Amino acid sequence: MPEQDPLQRRSNFNEVNLGFTEELAKMEALRCIQCPKPTCIEGCPVGVKINEFIALVAEGDFLGAADKMKEDNLLPAICGRVCPQEEQCEVKCVVGKKNEPVAIGRLERFVADYERETVGIRVPSLKTKTGKKVAIVGSGPAGLSCAGDLIQMGHDVTVFEALHELGGVLIYGIPEFRLPKSIVKEEIDSLSKLGVEFKTNEVIGLTDTVDELMQNDYDAVFIAVGAGLPYFLNIPGENLNGVYSSNEFLTRVNLMKAYRFPEFDTPVFNCKDKNVAVFGGGNTAMDTVRISKRLGAKNAYIIYRRSDVEMPARAEEIHHAKEEGIEFILLSNPLEFIGDEKGWLKSVKIQRMELGEPDSSGRRRPIPIPGSDYILPIDMAVISIGNGSNPIIQKTTPDLNYNKWGNILVDENTMKTSKKGVFAGGDIVTGGATVILAMGAGRKAAAAINDYLKSES
Ligand code: FAD
Repeated sequence: MPEQDPLQRRSNFNEVNLGFTEELAKMEALRCIQCPKPTCIEGCPVGVKINEFIALVAEGDFLGAADKMKEDNLLPAICGRVCPQEEQCEVKCVVGKKNEPVAIGRLERFVADYERETVGIRVPSLKTKTGKKVAIVGSGPAGLSCAGDLIQMGHDVTVFEALHELGGVLIYGIPEFRLPKSIVKEEIDSLSKLGVEFKTNEVIGLTDTVDELMQNDYDAVFIAVGAGLPYFLNIPGENLNGVYSSNEFLTRVNLMKAYRFPEFDTPVFNCKDKNVAVFGGGNTAMDTVRISKRLGAKNAYIIYRRSDVEMPARAEEIHHAKEEGIEFILLSNPLEFIGDEKGWLKSVKIQRMELGEPDSSGRRRPIPIPGSDYILPIDMAVISIGNGSNPIIQKTTPDLNYNKWGNILVDENTMKTSKKGVFAGGDIVTGGATVILAMGAGRKAAAAINDYLKSES
């Protein structure tokens, strides 16, 4: 896929990948051998009819391909950009056994962009109304996909969102240069056109509880509040000025447009010509460090305690980060943040690690090398080692079953919780995962909620 030049793009927030042309898309689609039993579909958590939409692309029927895609996925421009296809549909592609797999994600993106840019996003026609009302808590990919399916089944759907913008991590976490916000907004608008009602600035647990939603007319509730509570390193100096969580840093930059301060009134540490260290090796860490480079950091480091083989981030994001000049300090673990007399971060003490036997995650365990500590001067640190579940729902709905990390326990096949009429899915159930897994959970829940509503009536 054509891309913006790394030297140019590391100082702007425009999209890195530029998308297929019509010609490239057709050529790529013709590489699909149309297997009689397409294994790629097994790899897609929302079951997109991949072979069928690709056949339509090969024929040049791009709008037909968009319609086929939207039978199973109402957010294709988003998925085409951020889904880890290399671990899902593409890893199962038969062509990939001997050659590069068919670029399913890039074709998905092409088809969605083609429709949006030529005729605008068209929405399917709706069934007659059932008179049942469903409340969805959270407007991330799990909530949105559940809303899209339920509204098409004829139910009334209201999505309650705590923030002032819709989209969850798609809006406040993933940066503009990977997923333009205008595209997220247009795909969400297509749900509004279908009749989904959205209510922002509604923190369920504070404005209304789940029980109050059930008492106030809703026949079922789907909880999709994600995993938005950042983990910290718990090392000395973590409360110094200049130390952020990725959540705070990304929210300030992506949602509050901190990079346009004072035009937008939420600032972030000015890292121009400064040294920035991001601790972690996932997609969140890559997004954070690449943003710091775009904000002018002189040196932007990823500091990760294992090797690059164990890094959880998508290979494409690691590749793009390296191209943009991010420095990877691997097998290294922070021991302490050190500040000046005014409480501002000045450096970090790092310990070198080596890899031992695999741990319960299957990845080789990092083991500290005694006496290997050294000091790295840094001006800003961002902790990006994962997120847990936000406790508001647990505190206000204690009669649901939770595990010890606060994730809601559900029946895996139906996403039913222990409480009648209440379902849950996405990161609040699995812990931090992926967009498409959250969407898959939303779809599964929608089917189960539909069955539940029918059985109740
Ligand atoms: P979320 O997207 O977290 O949405 C939950 C929503 O619920 C939020 O809008 C939140 O404000 C709202 N909410 C929370 N509490 C309440 C409440 N009490 N009342 C009302 N609303 C509430 N995955 C990929 O597949 N590819 C990627 O490239 C990728 N990159 C990522 C980059 C970053 C920076 C991050 C943080 C994650 C990334 N992920 C990626 C993971 C992916 O975004 C998540 O797995 C996915 O968004 C989870 O969807 P969700 O709907 O469960 O939750």
